[in-house]
Amino acid sequence: MKVVSVVLKLYVMQGEKMRRYVQKGKHLITLKKNNVLQYKKADWKEAILHIFFPRCCPICNEPLQLLGNKICNECLTNIQFVTEPRCMCCGKGVSSNRHEYCYDCRKKNHYFKEAVSLCYYAAGVEQSLAQVKYYNKRQHLDFFCEELYYRYGKKLLEWGIDVIIPVPLHKRKRRSRGFNQAEEIGKRLSILLHIPMDTNLLIRTKHTKAQKQLNDKERRKNIKDAFKVKQEEVRTIKRVLLVDDIYTTGSTVDECAKELLRAGVQTVYVATIAIGKGY
Ligand SMILES: [Zn+2]
Ligand SMILES: [Zn+2]
Repeated sequence: MKVVSVVLKLYVMQGEKMRRYVQKGKHLITLKKNNVLQYKKADWKEAILHIFFPRCCPICNEPLQLLGNKICNECLTNIQFVTEPRCMCCGKGVSSNRHEYCYDCRKKNHYFKEAVSLCYYAAGVEQSLAQVKYYNKRQHLDFFCEELYYRYGKKLLEWGIDVIIPVPLHKRKRRSRGFNQAEEIGKRLSILLHIPMDTNLLIRTKHTKAQKQLNDKERRKNIKDAFKVKQEEVRTIKRVLLVDDIYTTGSTVDECAKELLRAGVQTVYVATIAIGKGY
């Protein structure tokens, strides 16, 4: 049994090494408390499951050959990750170091202090996140959340977050979908970062129209006053990390941040998987 476990362990590490190599080590960060191998130890169940049900790539849905990999090499190289220089507010890429803020953030103020997004909301990622929502492919989020952690974990820890709060769905919508995708992201980041998640503090009181077809102004109007904070629970919380799947104009996270600040939270940060390119 011991031999089998050692072989499996090496196999897990090999997959991980390969992936790092493909990415040329760009994303690697060393965290004393939450290093990669530390949470890789918990992957035993996955090692056994892999033999019978290999994990599939979150973009092309093909079964992955190497245990420990969460995406195939081809799809990994096709993802448009957000790179430096980035907007100091919303976190999307800016054309040069001369610009501290992107065009959108120069035009309007946000209620949140700073945001990070893993990649751009483009082909591949767009379909993958839609599958999470509409076909219950929650396992796709494993890759995106781990990658977000690899690239921005250090920053997120430096922010000194007290609690992770997922952008809530209206209870009617949550019931029909069966889960909240933002909560699934929050859950994964909570485990990786060792920061608690709270899903009761912020609630959505308005059943809003889908934002997808609306322009910036309509989005703001649609989402206005849609969230409420349970006042009595917010007292000890200073810094919040709001999480969601997609950042488009920022109107949803802004509305959540506005309500959190009104309730007494000092600073709101944001982390999303994908961000629209904007201007
Ligand atoms: Zn793939
Ligand atoms: Zn910006």
